[in-house]
Amino acid sequence: MKAHADLYPELPGIDELLREPEVAALIAHEGQAATTDACRAVLARLRDEIAAGHLDSDKLRIAIAGIHDAIRNELGRALGYSLLPVINATGVILHTNLGRAPLAASAMDHIRETAEAYSNLEFNLDSGERGKRDVHVDRLFRKLLSQESVGTGSTGRAGVRAPTRSEETGATGVPARLPLVSTIVVNNNAAAVLLALNTLAEGGEVIVSRGELVEIGGSFRIPDVMAKSGATLHEVGTTNRTRIADYERAVNERTKLLLRVHRSNFEITGFTEQPDLSELVALAAKHKLPLMEDLGSGALFDLRTIGINSEPSVLDSVRCGVHVVTYSGDKLLGGPQAGLISGREDLVQKMRSNSLFRAFRVDKLTYAALEATLLAYIKRDHNGVPALRMMQLSKSEITKRAETLISQINSAKIVADLIDGESLIGGGSAPSAVLPTTLIALTRTSLSANELATRLRTFNPPVIARVEEGRILLDLRTVFPAQDEVLRQILAQIAP
Ligand SMILES: *Cc1c(COP(=O)(O)O)cnc(C)c1O
Repeated sequence: MKAHADLYPELPGIDELLREPEVAALIAHEGQAATTDACRAVLARLRDEIAAGHLDSDKLRIAIAGIHDAIRNELGRALGYSLLPVINATGVILHTNLGRAPLAASAMDHIRETAEAYSNLEFNLDSGERGKRDVHVDRLFRKLLSQESVGTGSTGRAGVRAPTRSEETGATGVPARLPLVSTIVVNNNAAAVLLALNTLAEGGEVIVSRGELVEIGGSFRIPDVMAKSGATLHEVGTTNRTRIADYERAVNERTKLLLRVHRSNFEITGFTEQPDLSELVALAAKHKLPLMEDLGSGALFDLRTIGINSEPSVLDSVRCGVHVVTYSGDKLLGGPQAGLISGREDLVQKMRSNSLFRAFRVDKLTYAALEATLLAYIKRDHNGVPALRMMQLSKSEITKRAETLISQINSAKIVADLIDGESLIGGGSAPSAVLPTTLIALTRTSLSANELATRLRTFNPPVIARVEEGRILLDLRTVFPAQDEVLRQILAQIAP
């Protein structure tokens, strides 16, 4: 047997390899540069294995015999996509790890038609002069957030009273008519909060309840964003109880803003107290301070109609008299990733002039997707927005699809049963925002649930399932009906 240094000469040289007909065929398909890189990577790997003493001359001969397959695989990996579509069978509608909201078909069409050619992104077609990119969606937000809007038929929510008669006449500082609301778009809600705080409160104090100093998804923490904005956090109350008097006592000459943060991803129950939004509105009016609400989820759709009472809508906040509302485009709104700031014209105008706005602005793809998504709301086409359609699916529709699917997969190897369960709205909506569903529970004796989950995840297309109590659970609420058949075929192949 040769010592490993003696094995190196057995390896083909790069030029020799590139002249081989199999490799020449790859060059014709995938190009010289990529194929050469793949050959180099495969040879380097073999040299490493020789150096590590993993190959004797027999093993090396086998590896060299398979070198064309290795090059083909290497090319496939290098030229293949890393970002892939997956089948979401978790039942979490706005799954942050799975890209949050799937886009409406109209949004995809509008992205394609405007982005693959030139567009009037910043060009006013009436005047022939330079225009603003935010006009395309501002007009739609105005409509959706105005009184005659097609949005929520709000009758109040936890912490929000519908304006009473005296408030409607303006007696307590709550506007008698809805103020004009303008909206700007930035990259995400984290950027929206940072831009709003920096514009409204840099160098001053912002009053926030201790029960609202939230962390969203690891790197977004209210105290940290506040520090970055140049404003000083003035905490009031306690974790579980904050009263309006706590805010009142904290107001001083340095106060620039009152901030309410929606508890998107947790709940405080038991001995708790939080002032009504309308009390904060009245306090803000009394001290001539702006009131901002970081809503996060930002529904433009009344979730009460599907039995969810814990998620305030953007219109609820505007109606109540909040001056600035920040929310995400890809949570309950069901559109592209974006941060929306809706509020009083003069305050939003200040944000528009802040140089951070230029740094945080979004591209034409986002505007196209957002415009199409908002138009679906204007047309009341709530089924056109996939996240809204999934939220509105009834348990019986899901059951019917699940029954059809399992009637075709039951084999000796895989056992599927239907059980009652809950889908989650997810994406920073309250943990209690759940919808009744029917789950397909898979049990298979030869594979553990984790092994089965791995097989599903590494399939093409990957299927992401829930694993609970030693079972795989599939929720068709988040599976597109057109994917039912693909899923059935995958399940049939996974249990040969
Ligand atoms: C989700 C959320 C954010 C962050 O929004 P992104 O769009 O993910 O940047 C901020 N605040 C609240 C209350 C949220 O729910």
